[in-house]
Amino acid sequence: MSANKPSIEEKRHSLAHILAQAVVDMFPEAKLGIGPAIENGFYYDFELPRTLIPEDLPIIEKKMKHIIKQNQEFKGETEPIDEAIAFLKKTNQSYKVELVEGFKAEGETEVGFQRNGPFVDLCRGGHVKSTNQIDVGSFKLDRIAGAYWKGDEKNPMLQRIYGLAFESKKELDEFLEMRKEAEKRDHRKLGKELDLFSFNENVGPGLPLWHPNGTVLVEQLERLAKEVEFKAGYKQVRTPHLTKGKLYHMSGHLPYYKDSMYPPMQLPGEEEEYFVKPMNCPHHHMIFAASPKSYRDLPLRLAEYGTCYRYEDSGALFGLMRVRSMQMNDAHIYCTEDQFEEEFMAVTEMYLYYFKLFSIERYEMRLSLHAPEKLGDKYLDDPELWKKTEEMVRRAMKKTKVKYTEVEDEAAFYGPKIDIQVWSAIGREFTLATNQVDFGIPKRMYLSYTDEKGNEAVPLCIHRAPLSTHERFIGFLIEHFGGAFPAWLAPVQVALIPVADVHEDYARGLEKEMFEQGIRVEVMTAEETLGKRIRNSEKLKIPYMLVVGDNEVKGKSVTVRSYHSKEQKEHKKDAFLKSLLTEIKERRLPV
Ligand SMILES: [Zn+2]
Ligand SMILES: [Zn+2]
Repeated sequence: MSANKPSIEEKRHSLAHILAQAVVDMFPEAKLGIGPAIENGFYYDFELPRTLIPEDLPIIEKKMKHIIKQNQEFKGETEPIDEAIAFLKKTNQSYKVELVEGFKAEGETEVGFQRNGPFVDLCRGGHVKSTNQIDVGSFKLDRIAGAYWKGDEKNPMLQRIYGLAFESKKELDEFLEMRKEAEKRDHRKLGKELDLFSFNENVGPGLPLWHPNGTVLVEQLERLAKEVEFKAGYKQVRTPHLTKGKLYHMSGHLPYYKDSMYPPMQLPGEEEEYFVKPMNCPHHHMIFAASPKSYRDLPLRLAEYGTCYRYEDSGALFGLMRVRSMQMNDAHIYCTEDQFEEEFMAVTEMYLYYFKLFSIERYEMRLSLHAPEKLGDKYLDDPELWKKTEEMVRRAMKKTKVKYTEVEDEAAFYGPKIDIQVWSAIGREFTLATNQVDFGIPKRMYLSYTDEKGNEAVPLCIHRAPLSTHERFIGFLIEHFGGAFPAWLAPVQVALIPVADVHEDYARGLEKEMFEQGIRVEVMTAEETLGKRIRNSEKLKIPYMLVVGDNEVKGKSVTVRSYHSKEQKEHKKDAFLKSLLTEIKERRLPV
């Protein structure tokens, strides 16, 4: 990076210095910990004579702005290590002393300092040339947190100040706006407000309970997947949740994947241990192997919304995004090499179809390749097969004309894969799914078919899960739609609101008619005021609100207010029902 144009990391790192400088100005006895640049900003850890309060942040921020405006130059210098220790001891910076003594023990003979204005701090470098390279409006002190020195709970707790920093005030404002919107759309918050799911202490962490409203989402997604898969020639299968360890030794999950599996169960009278399944693949492989196969049986596409259990660290659990039980939109496609390209392209097309259906406009596909130097270790040792399959995937991707990038050393053990990232409507990134080629496991599990010449051959296997797991995908959809789902997905599609008691019979008649047509409708009876019921329907983000009073009863009509368009209009009852049914059937996006 040229000296004239500092990188954002250099700006963020310099701001950490300036933060420390401002804090020392406010508390001369402050002891400094560390202060790195991080994603979206920077932080610095301090030991201070008192606990910081949120009101301190604007004061410190003002001091920082003052420093920036003084256009202080950053100057690096190196000191012999013992002099550095003496200097830091003299200035009572015991944490820095500890750091430098650590460097000394590692054999370092000198250390770097950075000086700007009157402030000097231990540092390896990477700064702006002078503070006027930082836009005073481009940063903001964000929050205060506690942090153990060196992240070790046996050490003293320091006070950490987090700051946000971007190239410009505009970028900072955009980030703050996006974050505010993301908080409103947080799937854990909306999950509660819309009564979609919960976690219960008595059930266990990471084990979601789907409430009736959330179950509608689950079932609508399954229905969609099964329809799409049926048309694409998949067969649905079902497999048990409980399985002998033997299967996982065959597949290689044991011992390699053991840490991510629930501990085994020893059943009375049985020698072998049982496990709850962490993946569906081995079971599908056993279905493939249940009868002899010939090339005429291929491609064979086995699909299952399979429930898996993974023993995630409890600290890593996060809402629906990281859970311990999950239902995966899983399928395995067994095919010959000749069929591979077409099959792989069809899977990619399926992803694109779903993206369009859910209005996922920004996505990225990444082809993850092996690293030749890690063959036999991280990757199955078959260089020729790697070369061949990677080329096959590349060709298939090019033919689909979908944009993708390539990265080395990110493949699965048994083959290359496509990793898919998507961005929600407000620009947050989610890792959704992978599409993997597997040339290792079928052989390992003795899967074979008789080819056209009568020889025994091993099929290739494609693992795919375009709709990810219910947990992750619904978590994404909640944020993507901000809880305002398209009618086909919405837990309640229609709120029926009789103006007064006398209109309830008409509403009940409508309810019955809609139930019969499969429409999810809820009558909000006149126990509460009309205004309150209307607000309630809005809060639940129900796509259509039907208010029925004297006029509607007389005219066999409904007054419809659309949640999405905010339009209000009177329709003939039958015309409304017809258009709603079409909207649902075609899985239209809200307009
Ligand atoms: Zn520095
Ligand atoms: Zn699989």
